[in-house]
Amino acid sequence: MPIATTNPATGQVLKTYEAMSTEQLDAAIERTDLAYQQLRTTTVDQRARWMNAAADLLDAERDEIARIMTTEMGKTYVAAQAEVTKCATAARFYADRAPAFLADEPADAAAVKATRAFIRYQPIGVVLAVMPWNFPLWQVMRFAAPALMAGNTGLLKHASNVPQTALLLEDVFRRAGFPEGAFTALLVGSEAVERILGDPRVRAATLTGSEPAGRSIAQIAGRELKKTVLELGGSDPFVVMPSADVDRAAEVATTARCQNNGQSCIAAKRFIVHTDVFDAFAEKFAANMAALRVGDPMDPNTDVGPLASERGRDEVHAQVRDAADNGASVLCGGELPTGDGWFYPPTVVTDLTPQMRMWSEEVFGPVAGLFRVSSYEEAIEVANGTSFGLGSNAWTRDPAEQERFATDLDAGNVFINGMTTSYPELPFGGVKNSGYGRELSELGMREFCNTKTVWVGEGAASAGAGAHAE
Ligand code: NAP
Repeated sequence: MPIATTNPATGQVLKTYEAMSTEQLDAAIERTDLAYQQLRTTTVDQRARWMNAAADLLDAERDEIARIMTTEMGKTYVAAQAEVTKCATAARFYADRAPAFLADEPADAAAVKATRAFIRYQPIGVVLAVMPWNFPLWQVMRFAAPALMAGNTGLLKHASNVPQTALLLEDVFRRAGFPEGAFTALLVGSEAVERILGDPRVRAATLTGSEPAGRSIAQIAGRELKKTVLELGGSDPFVVMPSADVDRAAEVATTARCQNNGQSCIAAKRFIVHTDVFDAFAEKFAANMAALRVGDPMDPNTDVGPLASERGRDEVHAQVRDAADNGASVLCGGELPTGDGWFYPPTVVTDLTPQMRMWSEEVFGPVAGLFRVSSYEEAIEVANGTSFGLGSNAWTRDPAEQERFATDLDAGNVFINGMTTSYPELPFGGVKNSGYGRELSELGMREFCNTKTVWVGEGAASAGAGAHAE
């Protein structure tokens, strides 16, 4: 894939970059490793000052950053502005909370026959982040903020279609005061990942992306004995039960499916509706979807901009055609627009069968699959009947049913009467083929920490739990 900015609203190539040579790549890894030797000796308070400065820069430069994001991958300008703000919030969250997350944790010394015993959280070194284009700033920030606050340094291999966003974030961390090389954007294609991960200076990797990319990186990391966190695809269920507020569910369902032009890992993709409320929900949902305004992502009145690539749009349309050609009903959308840009209309498809691609595949665009079920048990069976397990949503006003959904949905999160969202305060990640490990919260920070046990016997003088927070 060329490393280039191509405006998805017009199809025009705006800027191309040459991939780094092997020598340039090795030099970048060396710089990032040297930066680690420096960053690991800084105090958490110093790093918090730099992280807060990065947040201030993001806030101050929000509109320009958002414009670049929209130009590179087509999300609406309004959504891009909100994404920049969310990144600033996450940066401040980790600046504020890192001292507590990294503080020594006392253990039961008597039980382990020590005079003192505790856990100390320390950085592990250079971490490689392989990131996707769909939330080009947020996906990176939710790795970078906890990693840098822990004292690690980061190498970013961003998706090839968002090079300007990658370079821009590197620049923000540099200007915020982090040591030169603490966060380095690598302009390389995915074929370079094997070399980077094989480098002894690189200690771990995190990937947010597709299942094939996850398998490939996990394989290399397995061979190299390096830790990975994988945030992969999803085909999240959105279950609507008879006691639900159907109007509200149909409204939230529309946002849950079409936010980010339908290209979110945690978008609700399969709408599983109890037969008692199926017709009412289907009618409202299809009407809401059809009413969304598709168009220029820079226009504040636009709800849905273009898909990020022509290949992505072709794939979405092929999935819809496969369903329609095999007997599914298309309630709205489903037609490929003419004209420039990679636009696709919000689409609702029902009467799906297991033979159709949409039954089991993730659809990465504004296309909803609608399923009719006649019991709680059937809803759970359809919801869990996928290889993915990222997010999940259930709509019910029955408290007992809410409890059951919380337990029975086989996913990394369950949102009841709402849509899946990520918050710095809550862990985020999946099960099954949606990956493993967690981002965000203190768990996300500790994925790339050495959880060190310290045991102190008789006669030792000073090491003590409680004061240290590297
Ligand atoms: P993708 O093709 O896997 O690309 C993601 C990143 O991985 C890019 O930087 C890409 O580089 C790189 N890459 C691709 N193949 C690779 C390989 N074999 N080895 C090493 N690196 C490789 O994903 P996408 O299609 O752009 O993004 C959409 C997918 O990401 C969807 O499945 C979505 O659900 C998932 N996603 C998951 C989350 C989550 O948090 N779980 C969040 C967002 C998106 P190039 O660009 O150079 O190819």
